[in-house]
Formats: sequence, C-alpha cells, structure tokens
Amino acid sequence: MRNLIIINLKFRQTVRLFQKLPSVGPRQAARFIMALLDKDESELKELGQAIANLKREIKFCHECFNISENNLCHVCMDNKRDNSKLLVVEKVTDLDSIEKTGLYKGLYHVLGGAINPLDGATPETLKFLELARRTDKLTGDKDIELIIATNPSTTGETTALYIRDLLQNRKGITLTRLGRGLASGSNLEHADELTLKHALESRK
Ligand SMILES: [Zn+2]
Repeated sequence: MRNLIIINLKFRQTVRLFQKLPSVGPRQAARFIMALLDKDESELKELGQAIANLKREIKFCHECFNISENNLCHVCMDNKRDNSKLLVVEKVTDLDSIEKTGLYKGLYHVLGGAINPLDGATPETLKFLELARRTDKLTGDKDIELIIATNPSTTGETTALYIRDLLQNRKGITLTRLGRGLASGSNLEHADELTLKHALESRK
C-alpha cells in the first residue's frame, strides 16, 4: 500500500474497501477511518445499516433512472416540463448539477455511467436500450431535441459518439451537445453553475 505504514490488518482491509469509492486513495481512506473511529458506536451502526440497505431502500425512476421516492421521479411527474427536450447524462449527480442551474426545463435520461470497458461499463450495462425506447415514445407525436451532456472526458466522448451512432438516423430527433466552456477532461458534476449555464446556452 502506497504512502501508508500503519500495520494493522483490519485497518488495511478497511482502507482497501474505502478505496473502492471514486477518487479515494489510501491516505484519504485512512482519514475517513480515523474520523469514523472518533464517532459513537451508535452512529457507526446507523451508517453501516444505511449502507447495507442502500440497494433495497433507494429507488430509481422507471422512466429516467433519476433517484426517486416513487416509481416516477419529481421531474417525470411534473407535466409542466418540456417533453420535446431530453438531456442525457452519465450520473444522477450530473442531473442534479444541471437541475440546480434552473435553466433547463426539459426531461432527463441517466445512463448510469460512461462506456469504459476497463471498468466493466459496456453499452449493455448502461441504459442505452431504455434511451432508444424512450426517444421512440417521445417522438411518437412530435420532434424532439436530444441534448448529449456526457462529460468532456475520454469515456464521456466515447459515450457521446455511441449515442450519435445509435440515434442519428431516427426520425424526429435533433442531436445537440453541451457547448463550450466545459474544459476538456473535466466533470459536469464539478462544474460551477455559471459554466453549466453557458454550456447549456451554447449547445449545438
Ligand atoms: Zn424520472
């Protein structure tokens, strides 16, 4: 283990578990564990329980795969949203960032990640089939704009190309991509609101 010389088997095993989370290295993992060791037993139990029940208790919207209390999320339930616009993101946290700008009034589709075979994320494991079905349904009675809002990273661009291949010849769909301002290699989730506003306004 790089940078850590703590010799305790359980500690090191727990560090490895924390490192399964995005962007957590051994030092960060050790900091988390030290912080947890300062908590009461009851707080730790509550956290453990919450993690153990995560898959059972947190639902995803059947339409767009946003996190939801019910079968449909608050966006899909809201009939004031513009259903001629569908914005495709990698993750729920990206949806959240765009929703916070208050500038976008259309619908969303969450893919569940970006194509990255090294990570086991292939087109089959992401929600592309559901995306194609959804666009078929939405284009039944009107034309729609499908805004590709995957991250401006290598995997995000691969995913954007895949969406273009999948949908560009379908009738009633105009494909656009989030515009300038997002630095290449950056992450939507960490972009500030102003940058996201510009990116939304300058889509093409
Ligand atoms: Zn939804």
